[in-house]
Amino acid sequence: MRLIDIHAHLDNTKYEDDLDEVIERCREYNVTAVISGVNKKTNRKVLELQEKYPDVIKVTFGIYPLDALAKELESGEATGFSRDTEPVDIDKELAWIENNKNRCVAIGEIGLDYNWPEFQSDEIKQEQKDNFKKILKVARELDLPVIIHTRKAELDCVEILEKLNMKKVILHCFMGRKHLIKRAASNKWYFSIPPIITRLQHFQTLVELVPLEQLLTETDSPYLSPVAGERNEPANIRVTIKEIAKIKNLTEEEVAEQIWKNAASLFNLS
Ligand SMILES: [Zn+2]
Repeated sequence: MRLIDIHAHLDNTKYEDDLDEVIERCREYNVTAVISGVNKKTNRKVLELQEKYPDVIKVTFGIYPLDALAKELESGEATGFSRDTEPVDIDKELAWIENNKNRCVAIGEIGLDYNWPEFQSDEIKQEQKDNFKKILKVARELDLPVIIHTRKAELDCVEILEKLNMKKVILHCFMGRKHLIKRAASNKWYFSIPPIITRLQHFQTLVELVPLEQLLTETDSPYLSPVAGERNEPANIRVTIKEIAKIKNLTEEEVAEQIWKNAASLFNLS
């Protein structure tokens, strides 16, 4: 069985002490891990990890909605991420991404995040949307898939992706409601399902609604673990496969094979 985790953050400091072992478990269970940068610093860190573990790791370059990462770190919701020391220059970072396009399989994570009270002003929302559109246009030009983060901004996100006629779209950990799930599915976009599906009815419903041909598996490691409070890792993708198999009434092998196929065609994997 060939498995894929299409979204993880193995550059996080939570893996500092035992990344070799985490990667070893990927090899043991035949897991390819796609790891995502979120800013200038992490885009370079993920590349270093790909160079170190080329048999397991693929990378994507991202520019996280500004500056949701700062909010997550300040609130304690996120820890262990490298922050940029200077404000992100989006044009400069996009130029760097274009220069390194052959080293990544997608652009992400990118998106919109209105989760924080300070982000709910029209001005900030507009700024996020403008940045998002700019990044999407580059991804479209490079013909790369996009991995989308969206929090409390699902409708705006879907509307922008539709307006720009984006085709290779992956909605990661998508919490939008049923009608938005159906709308995104009818656009032939993809949804990636985390192991937390065992604890969240929302993802079980999503898997029921969306054809297997449009599903992918992710861990968002270190988050979204199948066990509350535990650090997640790519090898846990097996939990998601098992759960999807149960819901779709298929074998785990059948599910894994189709999901690998979905990912391989999106990311041009051999
Ligand atoms: Zn993520």
